[in-house]
Amino acid sequence: MKIYRCVSGNSKVVKLIVGGLHGNEGRIIGPILERLKHMNLKVNGEVILIPRISYGEKYISTLSRKYYRTKAGRKLLKLVEVFKPNIYVEIHCYRRSAYEKLVDPFRRFSMGIPPLLSLDDGVLIGAALPQLFKTHMFDLGLVIEKTCKRGGEETILSILKIIVEISEYLEILSKLSLKYPQQISKIVAYHSLIKSKTRNM
Ligand SMILES: [Zn+2]
Repeated sequence: MKIYRCVSGNSKVVKLIVGGLHGNEGRIIGPILERLKHMNLKVNGEVILIPRISYGEKYISTLSRKYYRTKAGRKLLKLVEVFKPNIYVEIHCYRRSAYEKLVDPFRRFSMGIPPLLSLDDGVLIGAALPQLFKTHMFDLGLVIEKTCKRGGEETILSILKIIVEISEYLEILSKLSLKYPQQISKIVAYHSLIKSKTRNM
């Protein structure tokens, strides 16, 4: 597993960005995160970038407790425990057939978590899962998904650029809401829902 770490600027904020948490989705997501590394970014704070966590492991949803007992799941928990990020972002890819399920408005009732929201080019965004907030209380925890086919790379890179360059999470959210006002206001609401749920877990 490759781990890139960069510390720059005055900020003490720690940002953890991980990709490819399932099966071979790292083949798609890994190269995008490698591209991020080679972009000319003004990093503010500490950025830990892991392009790929899973190397061909059997698919188990991150919603399932079983995931956190797999090799990839244990790595993920360890990374969160060790780095204690203020800002956490995980990046996946989804198959076309999974789309309806991911954005299902009733996902909150059927799966206990809010649906993902559409941005551009098939990119979806949501709040990170309660399981992870329980491990460490992030200020901002996000899940981003793109299709496993081509498309969405630039959208993901533009979001990550904002996250890497801006240190305060509220400022990140306000910058993102210039482009995605409705989605970000929902994310903020989901976020507080998940945080309050985690506190009661
Ligand atoms: Zn995944």
